[in-house]
Amino acid sequence: GFVERHAPGQAVADCMPLVQHLLARAAIDVKFEDEAARMVLMNRTELQQVAVNLIVNAIHAMPDGGTLAIRTSDQDRDGRPGVAIDISDTGVGIDPDVLSRVFDPFFTTKRQEGTGLGLSISQTLVTRQGGSISAESAPGKGASFTVWLPEAD
Ligand code: ADP
Ligand code: MG
Repeated sequence: GFVERHAPGQAVADCMPLVQHLLARAAIDVKFEDEAARMVLMNRTELQQVAVNLIVNAIHAMPDGGTLAIRTSDQDRDGRPGVAIDISDTGVGIDPDVLSRVFDPFFTTKRQEGTGLGLSISQTLVTRQGGSISAESAPGKGASFTVWLPEAD
């Protein structure tokens, strides 16, 4: 799709209305720290698809409520300037054996409505723009996904 410069925090903020009813229904608080000053290059719809995938996964991990923390910040990787978008939850967390497979196509632990494609597609979209996506978790302590994208020139 058409690639253009975006303020990453604005792109993420613009997709919050899509998930607002899910957040409210699950009594999830949102903390949003938009500290990135740099711009990124990406197709807007694809960037929002990635953000929505990560946010919906976080919501699924917090059926009894919790906190969704979204943070953007300027971050260099391997000497390249870029932006990190962190999406963290206080949900069920991810066991180590599961964590190593979450980006595999069709990998899902959801009995219903899980296609197992959200993270796989997100990784494809992000790496196509020269970025990366990673996951961290401690079981019972929630999960944290980080999308890193190179700065737009
Ligand atoms: P789906 O959501 O359809 O299962 P995804 O590719 O989006 O597929 O995610 C794959 C799997 O990764 C999920 O089934 C779940 O086991 C795990 N996962 C992803 N995000 C989280 C999260 N925030 N907390 C706990 N587990 C997660
Ligand atoms: Mg998903």
